[in-house]
Amino acid sequence: MSAHTTFRIGGPADFFVEVASAAELGALVSAFGAADIPWFALGGGANLLVGDRGIRGVVLDLSSLAWARRDGDKLRAGAGLSVDELCLQALADEQAGLENFYGMPGTLGGALFMNARCYEKDFSETVESIDIISPATGERREARPSPSQWGYKRSPFQPGGEWEGWLIAGATLALKRGDAEGIAATMRARRLDRAAKGHYRLPSAGSMFKNNRDFGKPTGAILDGLGLRGARIGDAGVSPWHANIFVNLGRASAADMRALIEKAQAMAREAYGFALEPEVLFVGEF
Ligand SMILES: Cc1cc2nc3c(=O)[nH]c(=O)nc-3n(C[C@H](O)[C@H](O)[C@H](O)COP(=O)(O)OP(=O)(O)OC[C@H]3O[C@@H](n4cnc5c(N)ncnc54)[C@H](O)[C@@H]3O)c2cc1C
Repeated sequence: MSAHTTFRIGGPADFFVEVASAAELGALVSAFGAADIPWFALGGGANLLVGDRGIRGVVLDLSSLAWARRDGDKLRAGAGLSVDELCLQALADEQAGLENFYGMPGTLGGALFMNARCYEKDFSETVESIDIISPATGERREARPSPSQWGYKRSPFQPGGEWEGWLIAGATLALKRGDAEGIAATMRARRLDRAAKGHYRLPSAGSMFKNNRDFGKPTGAILDGLGLRGARIGDAGVSPWHANIFVNLGRASAADMRALIEKAQAMAREAYGFALEPEVLFVGEF
């Protein structure tokens, strides 16, 4: 899985299936369910720490579900489309609303699952409806999540949500008419800002921990205060340019990365008495 995650970390999957269509995806998950075969839906692998022993069962690679189509003020797209391509499609159609997400690694499906947030904008703000697939029956359905089903980095697809375990096949986004020059200028600024902040310098999964308003300051500042910037265990490091971005300095193992995460959590707990919650998801066997 190190070839399929932005961290470049992770052991092998038992099976890796490139899914060709939403219909195939539905048929596969219902068959796997009946046969008790575990599966995992992979987007761009931009928010994952996969264990060194890999993933048991089947990894479903959804990157072929990568279509996009303008529909009036709306943009419909498949879950496997990269967020960058989604933004470029909106730009080509002169539709505004997605600019802040340009430069964020990952796919439409992952951005919906995570309710990704960029420059103070939640991905959920653009969502009109989502094409979802039942993991039990493979049945497809249109979901229209209400505002209360979303939150800061929270979506109805996560544990405890109404559609926990359901697959996302695609979505319809409600955008506004905009002018191409203005849209392109914001997109360019966002990408340059990320580049200046070192987002693309070394393999990472973006921010390691969530921010929490109760802490009174951003998690990066908390980790900085603990002197963690530049800390490392093996090839797993806290980036020297932002303490909430953990990086793979070469051949980091998942075990080293997890040890570094736990070290930061223990130091924060000891110094401030609160628990830092990882934003990055732990997947597979460590
Ligand atoms: C350099 C860098 C910068 C980043 N900056 C930001 C940022 O500014 N804001 C932010 O919010 N995040 C950021 N991230 C994290 C990451 O880009 C987001 O979390 C992104 O939305 C993950 O999408 P993905 O497609 O890679 O999902 P993955 O990492 O592949 O999967 C994440 C979860 O979504 C589930 N999933 C994916 N697709 C589907 C589907 N079709 N159906 C059901 N479940 C699905 C997976 O099973 C998994 O549980 C950054 C990451 C990097 C590497």
